[in-house]
Amino acid sequence: MFKVLFFLFATVFVVHAKHEEYIGYTLYGVTVYDRDQNDQLMDIVERYTLDVWSYASLETEGLILVAPELKPVFEDEITSIGVTYRIDTDNIKEKLDLEDFLLAEAARKSNSSRSERFGISFDEIHRWAVVDRFLGDVASRFPRLATVVNAGRSVEGRNIRYLRISSNNFATRTKPIIVIQCMLHAREWVTLPVALWAIQELVINSNSNQDLIRDIDWIVLPIANPDGYEFSHTRTRMWRKNRRTGFTPSNCIGVDLNRNFNHNWGTASSNNPCSDTFHGPRAFSEPESVVTRNILSEFRTRIAMFLDVHSFGSLILYGFANRQLPPNQPMLNRVGNDMARRIDAVKWPQNRNYRVGNSATILYTASGVCGDYAQVAIGTGLSYTYELPAHRNLNNINGFLVDPAFIRQAGFETWEGIKVAARFIARR
Ligand SMILES: [Zn+2]
Repeated sequence: MFKVLFFLFATVFVVHAKHEEYIGYTLYGVTVYDRDQNDQLMDIVERYTLDVWSYASLETEGLILVAPELKPVFEDEITSIGVTYRIDTDNIKEKLDLEDFLLAEAARKSNSSRSERFGISFDEIHRWAVVDRFLGDVASRFPRLATVVNAGRSVEGRNIRYLRISSNNFATRTKPIIVIQCMLHAREWVTLPVALWAIQELVINSNSNQDLIRDIDWIVLPIANPDGYEFSHTRTRMWRKNRRTGFTPSNCIGVDLNRNFNHNWGTASSNNPCSDTFHGPRAFSEPESVVTRNILSEFRTRIAMFLDVHSFGSLILYGFANRQLPPNQPMLNRVGNDMARRIDAVKWPQNRNYRVGNSATILYTASGVCGDYAQVAIGTGLSYTYELPAHRNLNNINGFLVDPAFIRQAGFETWEGIKVAARFIARR
């Protein structure tokens, strides 16, 4: 009895002690009416280093998280430029506590009903150490299909490892490669099941996907930013960047890895280390982005598709983030739409349909973006940035917050889209 009480107390205590830094933070829904307003809104975001959950466009509302002390000035400033707003969530801490609770409940039920079958559960968002161990287990259990590669170490010294999945250990030099990279941005937890689902289907359930490993070699990197990812679990849920320190005089931490790649680096990103889009001291200053660069340079002639998976927005985006279009834009658009149609056919009805297009046209201009660098590196190959859905459910959890019920679906439906592109590539 004492044990049970202690457990309950500990659980309650942990839930309430977490996310203190978010007390009183408000999530605003903002609507812009022309491009000028959007630019001015972005100036305000940069000036106060606000946390943009999703960018506003002429078609869709944006979401911005604002600290309690900045709320009056934020409301005044955006009203003065003609942007209108509504309060989406008054105190975001309550939603963060709710997410913890729902995820813990789902994990508990999953653990108590787990069968002995080999694999990884899709009721939970697994921590880095669990995922890292899983990669090793898969490789040792299926040595003819999977090889784990030590690709480098993060700023804080965590291993960055990926799986190579192949019917003949990458020996056929003409075989196309598909790369799936997840979790470059720490807080985008719902992207992790996409990588794990791909591994499950290609290795553990390989019998039902024979053609996909016969015709294509795969590289799956589940956690591209392990330090940031762990920090988003242990401390700051909304952490986006890596955990680079040493920027004086601000003492702010972290580089936005998705602004650190050498494609127009530093032209449309922040040079302020306190900003969430800080591009770092130079292109490829960070070991995490170097891992991706090395994958691209090692296999550049064979990579037929590179997927950098983010959340959220239900978008399939291609380059370039300065509005310039890659030469293979018609093909990018065609295959992107094929993937989107397939996902829309199996998605949950309450989630919006995927949109496909140029990242700058649909979202915003940016520079140093991973997907853009990859597009140049792989030439006529297909480079996409996925933005997975922000699932809205009965619990009203949305944005970066994950409803455990959606984890399995996120893995499943995205894989359905990826398979369409993979089979197109195999037939070419
Ligand atoms: Zn992202």
